[in-house]
Amino acid sequence: MVFSDVDDLGIQINSFLSGTMETDSVTSGKDPYRVAKYCAGNIYALKGRQFPESIAASILELQKKNDYDYIFIGSTAIGRDVAALLSEDLGFEVASEITGFRTEGGRIITRRFFYGGKTVLEESSTAKILTVMPGISEPKSSAKEGTVTEIESPASRITLIGAEDKTSGAVDLEKAGIIVSIGRGIGKQENIEKVNPLVEAVRGELAGSRPICLDYHWLSEDRQVGLSGKKVRPRVYIALGISGQIQHIAGMRGSKTVVAINKDKAAPIFEEADYGIVGDLFQIVPKLVEAIKSGQ
Ligand SMILES: Cc1cc2nc3c(=O)[nH]c(=O)nc-3n(C[C@H](O)[C@H](O)[C@H](O)COP(=O)(O)OP(=O)(O)OC[C@H]3O[C@@H](n4cnc5c(N)ncnc54)[C@H](O)[C@@H]3O)c2cc1C
Repeated sequence: MVFSDVDDLGIQINSFLSGTMETDSVTSGKDPYRVAKYCAGNIYALKGRQFPESIAASILELQKKNDYDYIFIGSTAIGRDVAALLSEDLGFEVASEITGFRTEGGRIITRRFFYGGKTVLEESSTAKILTVMPGISEPKSSAKEGTVTEIESPASRITLIGAEDKTSGAVDLEKAGIIVSIGRGIGKQENIEKVNPLVEAVRGELAGSRPICLDYHWLSEDRQVGLSGKKVRPRVYIALGISGQIQHIAGMRGSKTVVAINKDKAAPIFEEADYGIVGDLFQIVPKLVEAIKSGQ
């Protein structure tokens, strides 16, 4: 069984598993019919606003009925809570943040990043609940469309008093084709407007390192790339004034082409970069914008 509260991640997991095993899906995402295009089995769409507790209760009932071999859960804030609750209820071991797996002699061998992405660990366990990192696979349509059934969750002990949707700065970095990402080299918040022309010229999304988003709040937290931020896989990732610490690299390693501008030629970001420019970003960015606009 596959669960994700984010449709794209549920689709990635189903695509990753296709050809390996048959899957049913549980979703609390926006569009179960989209998920059905990537999962040939049953799609159980949870109705109404969902909390980890109510989602776990629904999955528990389905697990008792269908005795799934494994429960794959998209590693989101909600997904990780669901995994913990299910592990407690079912007494199953959890393998967290996996990026791949295989089975061997009744055990499951899972892979995950360690030391902030510097190392890949391969672990053997009897885990039956696996949380899966975003970006595990490209979407691959299923030959047969799944069947969607809406289900009510068992009554929750939580009562929703109010909900405020995030509007300002909401961004879907995981889907962005081009990302311009700024680091501490930007110097001060007012300087962000100096890189905006580049963001516009490449029709990209603006992102940042942890200090920029979490420590200084110069960008919203949903724009943070890295180990504790978003894991992105754009076609082009342009890193401006980012040193390239391993915790940042863990979030952008899946980028197809990396361009880095940094005034320190020994900055580790250059090890990740396909194109590196050593220099002051405030001098180079306007030149880049000019070159892009003139089609050079
Ligand atoms: C548990 C944990 C989780 C973490 N998670 C994340 C995460 O998710 N994402 C993340 O980013 N970090 C994360 N970090 C922090 C990480 O270790 C680094 O501290 C952080 O990535 C550094 O950010 P930076 O590159 O913007 O700043 P710095 O390391 O200070 O680098 C600034 C760079 O800008 C360059 N520079 C300065 N001025 C200019 C200029 N004018 N032109 C060009 N270049 C210039 C400098 O040469 C330098 O290389 C985490 C740390 C921990 C411990």
